[in-house]
Amino acid sequence: MSTNQPSGKSPARLKRVKILKKVIVTFVLTLIFLPLAMAIYFGCMAVSLKEELRERESELNYYMELQSEASFQKNTSDSIKEGETSEEASLKEPYKISESDVSKLSLKDEELYAGYKKIYLTFDDGPGPNTDEILDILDRYNVKATFFVVRKDGRNNEKLYQRIAESGHSLGMHSCTHVYKDLYQSVDAFREDTKELRDFLYLVTGVESDIYRFPGGSSNNVSPVDMHEFADELSKEGIVFFDWNISSQDATAIPLGKDRIVRNVTSQLSEYNEAIILFHDLDEKRTTVEALPEIIEYIQNMENTVILPITRDTNPIQHLSVK
Ligand SMILES: [Zn+2]
Repeated sequence: MSTNQPSGKSPARLKRVKILKKVIVTFVLTLIFLPLAMAIYFGCMAVSLKEELRERESELNYYMELQSEASFQKNTSDSIKEGETSEEASLKEPYKISESDVSKLSLKDEELYAGYKKIYLTFDDGPGPNTDEILDILDRYNVKATFFVVRKDGRNNEKLYQRIAESGHSLGMHSCTHVYKDLYQSVDAFREDTKELRDFLYLVTGVESDIYRFPGGSSNNVSPVDMHEFADELSKEGIVFFDWNISSQDATAIPLGKDRIVRNVTSQLSEYNEAIILFHDLDEKRTTVEALPEIIEYIQNMENTVILPITRDTNPIQHLSVK
């Protein structure tokens, strides 16, 4: 009896083997190429994330600071007894700097020191828990500096703004909230923010600020709007903006040690006849406070050199190129 049974494998079985081979080959190829493709993909992502991380670093610092400041303010307001005049109620009229304080202001020093090397110490993002100590150090060395402040409510903060102004330091603006996405979303938003801060500082200190530092600097790459538009807006209001040419680099996510901050500043001082130094007046920047006396002493030992507060007459150092 003959059958049609093939002596070898059936076509169905051959087909199955073929499919199985295909699956195995695909599987092996996937094993080889998938990790390769993933490595390339993640490698590229790492590079761009690193970039973004750097940009976000300073922003993060600021949010952390805002958070600690919020709890600081909460503690402060908790300690205000009921029935006591609230800061809002006490501030219907602009604060008046007393006559004796006004005589201490020495904001026309620019002309007096022609021919001198001029150093400007600037502190961004305050006021905060370190402001009093910074002011104490400046007093001790009889030095006037510049504070580019943000808006922080509460009685304790008001006292700090007032102490800055009354001690003859320059009170500059640094936006109300320092939140890039709000501040830089449009020219209108920027205009409103600046007006709000200017009015607030006038009410609290009696000083109408006319100097500004852009959060992130004028050369920041976080603003979706051309920074020239904001610069034009300031100039329309008679406000001069200032960047810096020496950074203490005290805004890194992991705070630098005191000696490193001193070195960052002093190593660059010989390069400029006019040096605007960037520091931060932020809660976690303790090493900035620790480095300050040494930096001031170093500058005070330099010949023909004077430390001055920034005024609108100061030669502006600006990163933003002219249009
Ligand atoms: Zn800032």
